[in-house]
Amino acid sequence: MTDRPFIIAGAGIAGLTLALTLARQNRPVMLIEKRSRIDELGAGLQISPNASRILIELGLGPALSRVAGEPDELIVRDGKTGTTLAGMAQGQAMRQTYGAPYWHIHRADLQTVLLDAVRSEPGIQLSFGRAIAGLEQNDTGVRVHTETANGTQATLEGSTLIGADGLWTRTAALLGDASEPRFTGYTAWRATLPMEEAPALFRANATGLWLGPNSHLVHYPLRSGRVLNIVAIVSDRSAEPGWSRPGDKQSCEARFRHWAEPVRALLSHIPEWHIWSLYDRPPRPHAAYGRATLIGDAFHPVLPFLAQGAAMAIEDTAVLARSVSQHDDLATAFKAYVTQRMPRAARVQQEARFNGRVYHLTAPFSWARNFKLKNTKSADFARRYAWLYSHQA
Ligand SMILES: Cc1cc2nc3c(=O)[nH]c(=O)nc-3n(C[C@H](O)[C@H](O)[C@H](O)COP(=O)(O)OP(=O)(O)OC[C@H]3O[C@@H](n4cnc5c(N)ncnc54)[C@H](O)[C@@H]3O)c2cc1C
Repeated sequence: MTDRPFIIAGAGIAGLTLALTLARQNRPVMLIEKRSRIDELGAGLQISPNASRILIELGLGPALSRVAGEPDELIVRDGKTGTTLAGMAQGQAMRQTYGAPYWHIHRADLQTVLLDAVRSEPGIQLSFGRAIAGLEQNDTGVRVHTETANGTQATLEGSTLIGADGLWTRTAALLGDASEPRFTGYTAWRATLPMEEAPALFRANATGLWLGPNSHLVHYPLRSGRVLNIVAIVSDRSAEPGWSRPGDKQSCEARFRHWAEPVRALLSHIPEWHIWSLYDRPPRPHAAYGRATLIGDAFHPVLPFLAQGAAMAIEDTAVLARSVSQHDDLATAFKAYVTQRMPRAARVQQEARFNGRVYHLTAPFSWARNFKLKNTKSADFARRYAWLYSHQA
């Protein structure tokens, strides 16, 4: 193998985790990030055991445990009546069943832990404010053309390019796949609230999931219970591509005006929302192209209805790093990685889409869903996720 660096485009969760994983294998890494700094706005992430075990194996367990929380349980409620429909134990039960925690973590805290670990690795060169703009490759390496916001261009020499540049990936286009994600008809509204301002029902150390017609709401505590994270997802006609934009408080409350009183009370306390139009696409079949490949959302975005997008990105990094250590030839390693990840990513995407449809059912179908949930024992409900959380990437 060559000493030229592995060039990674994008320092999101996928890129940072991969840089760290490769550095731990003593491989030189150059991590290129388009933004001039990482500034995550207030939002939470659920990191399930299939991903937390990988972060723990990277030695991040102690740092993450200091900033992540473990919910005691998941409670599913009917959004219109407030009735509890189903639930399952999380916390200790997850650790016992899957040997790893189910974490709730602020996105900024996860990025900070990853970034600190990346910065402490002498083998990783980190460059902010530089976007991947072009690629040439031959049998021995790659030349990656980059560009800063003020138009300064540079060419980097590496052994490979790995695109961790998210849903709107430039790397995929450079590999010959310019197909675009499509709008799903869902919009996510996200907010955080100081916990003392939240109505009492929302202060429990639990993941709350409320299901209503054409909409659902998820909430959970962050930062040792000081902050409540709220995600409200509604079916929508119009979309705006990109990361997030400010949301209008009155429009959000209008969408939930027929919901149970506790939800309306919660929403009335939220001063500021951020909106994401949700886009989707199947995994990119040509994600391995010679000495270049894709990971995370660039390869296979996952709708948030299973809380698995970041988890899949983290799984990718483990499989990719192993494949690289098993094959001397990078092109072969990348093909093997894509072949291995394709079915898992496709299944997780499908299950997430399915959840979205079920969560948003309207009457009379929602009555059947609620009846079924009410008659599902907690242990049976938990078993539905075993295939997902027990996975050892
Ligand atoms: C509402 C919502 C809730 C979610 N909740 C969860 C959850 O609970 N659990 C979970 O696991 N997942 C969740 N997800 C999904 C998760 O956020 C994403 O799957 C994850 O952030 C993808 O990480 P990534 O590193 O692949 O991409 P990104 O986070 O998009 O990072 C890509 C990086 O590449 C950079 N970049 C872009 N173009 C270039 C370029 N040309 N050159 C260099 N750099 C570039 C970007 O600036 C960015 O930093 C949620 C998503 C949404 C929308």
